Amino acid sequence: MLKIIYQNKLEKTCYRFFTRNKHKATHWSVIRKKNRPSDKAMEHFDDFYKDVFGSHWLNIRKGLLGVQKYVAVINNYSNTEVSIDALEKDGALNMRTLYTLEKDNITEMLLKKKSLRYLDNLLKQENGEIQHHNPTLPAITPTENKTLSLEASLSTAIIDSSRLVSITDSVSVASLSHFIPTTKIKGMEDFVPESDHYRYFDNGTPLQARVEKEFNLHFPEHLNIYCYEEDNFSTFKSPKRDITDVYNYYIMDGGSVLPVLALDLKPGHRFLDMCAAPGGKSFIALQTLYPNYVVCNDVSISRVNRILSVLEQYFYDLDERWFKQNRIKVTQVDGRSIDKGNFDRILVDVPCTTDRHSLTDNDNNIFKPGRIKERLKLPELQSALLVNALKLVEKGGVVVYSTCSLSPIQNDGVVHMALKQIWEETNREIVIKDLGPALAPFRNVYKFANQKFMKYGHLVIPFVKQNYGPTYFCKLQRIT
Ligand code: SAM
Repeated sequence: MLKIIYQNKLEKTCYRFFTRNKHKATHWSVIRKKNRPSDKAMEHFDDFYKDVFGSHWLNIRKGLLGVQKYVAVINNYSNTEVSIDALEKDGALNMRTLYTLEKDNITEMLLKKKSLRYLDNLLKQENGEIQHHNPTLPAITPTENKTLSLEASLSTAIIDSSRLVSITDSVSVASLSHFIPTTKIKGMEDFVPESDHYRYFDNGTPLQARVEKEFNLHFPEHLNIYCYEEDNFSTFKSPKRDITDVYNYYIMDGGSVLPVLALDLKPGHRFLDMCAAPGGKSFIALQTLYPNYVVCNDVSISRVNRILSVLEQYFYDLDERWFKQNRIKVTQVDGRSIDKGNFDRILVDVPCTTDRHSLTDNDNNIFKPGRIKERLKLPELQSALLVNALKLVEKGGVVVYSTCSLSPIQNDGVVHMALKQIWEETNREIVIKDLGPALAPFRNVYKFANQKFMKYGHLVIPFVKQNYGPTYFCKLQRIT
């Protein structure tokens, strides 16, 4: 009892001391604190993202500043069963199971809806309200209903024409960049003529981007990813080495899974991870057990060393089994200058403003005053990397472009500019794959930005209850 009274008194005294000595907002120490790169980042995001996401920004902001959630990707080269068992005992859920269950739910729901529509039509016909089937709705027979797959059900859905973008359409182009201030970046010491840098995104060549809906997302059988359900904030135990001396799983932001799934890797593929360090997404790709040949590339030597250390931690006998057998290659090249490799799949996970990181970590922060030029040049670099991937990929091959930023300029804006350049410089036909229907079964796992905010890709937005991302990804396929 005495101890509690003493503690309360001490707390009160401390409180009085600190409130009495709290500095005014104009005090140097308060001003200095507000000048941290993370404060600049917050100011920048508040300014720009409020315009982009409107009333949703406050919730996204809460998510960005909240506790980030992770997933655990099982290492198939460790004692897989033991790791899976332990994770499941801790209440973690297999993402493939969640995806499949929800896909079945959606299929059932669509079938019910169709059956109801069918019954409704039948009733109307019996009552003489309609004489013929509505020509815009295909006639549905009960036997059809029983056998309809998700793809078939969705194929009768109405096409969302708002996602068909014309490169010449000034409205859609403007919507990608309208929130960029024309004369300055707020919160900086100097006013930088940012408009010059974004003139790069100007409208130009009369070209049409083809967007095709995709209904299927293949979840590889051997890819075991564990997550906690919405509102469950349990954390994964640190990975452990097992008897083969490799770690049992890799912990990463859940958003990282989607760009790799979007690649649609298949057995025998040659895969290039153009900006691979530290190697999280290469790791997922390798865990599908599909690619025959994986190149993990990064421009920076220190970052390449991080890839090597991840590979050493997760793949035993790396030299003998992987490097010498030419199954994995680690290279240190500027992604813009890679010019050969016959790749079926390329991931372009570009350097970006790393929005979550920029708000929490002041070291190596892209909002540091000394990195202004680098930051402004990001879209140009991102676009050049994507253009090179689109030139490099084999006919029929897939390129996935991804960032961990919410910025429409770095996301859809860069895709737009890269496509424009490809059309100007080559005669390749590139199709954008709208994964909307295929991603629907993930609705209980991820919070996706409403497609009205998006033109080409998909965006996982931070959300307090299911706090992954931000992750933007866009799937592009080379047709000719
Ligand atoms: N994909 C990685 C993963 O999942 O672990 C994260 C990649 S990180 C977002 C971006 C990487 O791009 C950084 O490691 C950076 O060094 C690299 N990078 C920057 N400029 C590059 C360039 N011109 N060519 C290749 N890599 C580059």
